[in-house]
Amino acid sequence: MRTALAVVAMLMHVWLGAPVRAAETASATRAEVSGDHLRTTFRLDLSAGVTAEIYTLANPYRVIVDLPDVAFHLPDGTGQETHGLVRTFRYGLFAERKARVVLDTTGPVRIERAAMTAKPDGKGIVFAFDMVTTDPASFGTGTGAGKAAEATAAPPPPPAEPPKADALRPDGKAVIMIDPGHGGIDGGAVSASGLLEKEVVLAAAAELERQLAATGRYDVHMTRTSDVFVSLDQRLKLSAAQGVDLFVSLHADSLSEQHGAQVVRGATIYTLSERASDEQARRMAEKENASDLIAGINVVDGEGDEEVKSILFDLMTRETANFSADFSNVLVRKLKSATSLAREPQRAAAFKVLKQSHAPSVLIELGYLSNPEDEKLLKSPEWRKKIAASITAAVDAYFAKRTAASPGP
Ligand SMILES: [Zn+2]
Repeated sequence: MRTALAVVAMLMHVWLGAPVRAAETASATRAEVSGDHLRTTFRLDLSAGVTAEIYTLANPYRVIVDLPDVAFHLPDGTGQETHGLVRTFRYGLFAERKARVVLDTTGPVRIERAAMTAKPDGKGIVFAFDMVTTDPASFGTGTGAGKAAEATAAPPPPPAEPPKADALRPDGKAVIMIDPGHGGIDGGAVSASGLLEKEVVLAAAAELERQLAATGRYDVHMTRTSDVFVSLDQRLKLSAAQGVDLFVSLHADSLSEQHGAQVVRGATIYTLSERASDEQARRMAEKENASDLIAGINVVDGEGDEEVKSILFDLMTRETANFSADFSNVLVRKLKSATSLAREPQRAAAFKVLKQSHAPSVLIELGYLSNPEDEKLLKSPEWRKKIAASITAAVDAYFAKRTAASPGP
């Protein structure tokens, strides 16, 4: 893989003379896959040359292309069709000023003929490479894992003080982390009309942040405030660094036809449990936990942070789990008046983002993008206001109860 990378970088300099300055943003206007199941070509048209890095990952087989700050202006539906060795591909911001394309391949591939060439008319650059079939043995496993880990190793903000449950903060405010799921290259679930989970949950999170902050009672943080990918590890680290008192992850689900896409609707609240409460909850956690895979992080042999790895179930105190259950109970009561709930609105499963030893945490699936009525609600600003108000009311009730229960000074 490294040979291919060197070729890309070298050719870029040959053709463009000088590398693009850091402040400049290239835009991608066209992406295309051509060829057959023996040799497939990926082509990306760029407004300017950039340094691209290509590598492959196994489990499942993927090709990752890392680019600097590239803005994607591609037609809707780009990357959805299977062609040759490429099942589908997706693109977007992976981190701040880092873009990424992830191609899901039908099997192990080798990269060949990677190049950035100026278009004959001088208007823009064509970045292209070939994928050819190879056998699993020569593909190896975890190719490029080190690189993938490096790309995600954004340093978390240093903890101001060691997090301590129920520590009295200088301003007496409880710290709340709102966690809009997905983002950037990881779009999450998608509705029939193309509405993306990452957009819906970010809008809902922004409204919830506004309402919580407006009470003056909480110190509110978000794991992301823009359309950028944040890994599950990073979300956990952000929560740990802030020593949060409550962690609320927002998502929206989507079901396939065979699982009742048209009829199943409503909000569901998930808490952490090693054993899923039911099959649907187990599937849900599996889907949400795949976020890192979707963004091209090698989860299987990924060099995860030891600190995060050590946050295991056995470290999670019973108290934290009880507080999570308390919040889920009050939440389901408040949400009921704002929106329709799923038939079993309280479920549990092994969501990675909820594996927090210190912070009571819940994951709210706001509704189903696969259900036409829910989709209408999910994109309505009025509904967002209503749902944020009911979550805020639940937060108020939860902390009021905790304050009342704690022994006085
Ligand atoms: Zn989600």
